[in-house]
Amino acid sequence: MHNGICHRCGAATVRAAANSLSSQSTHTTMWPPHQPGVRGIFKANLGQVWQYVCTTCGVMEWRIHDPATIAWINANWVAVPVQQDQPPG
Ligand SMILES: [Zn+2]
Repeated sequence: MHNGICHRCGAATVRAAANSLSSQSTHTTMWPPHQPGVRGIFKANLGQVWQYVCTTCGVMEWRIHDPATIAWINANWVAVPVQQDQPPG
C-alpha cells in the first residue's frame, strides 16, 4: 500500500493521510496497555500514524514510518506470540 500499489487488488489508486482517523490532526496518542479503571501514571507517545486507502477496493492499511515511535511500541506494547499452526502471512 505505501508503495502506491494496493496489495489486495493491484490498483494504483492508493491515497494516504497521517493521523486522519484520530482526534488530533498533528499526531496519534499511543498508550501502554493497561486495564480500564487502573490509576497510575502512564507515559503516552505522540507519534505519526499513516493511513493508506485504496480508492478502488476500499482496503486500508495503517503504517508507522517513524523509527522512534516504532521503538516506543516495541518497548511498551505486548508481544504477540508466534503460533506454529498459522501459515506465514
Ligand atoms: Zn485495492
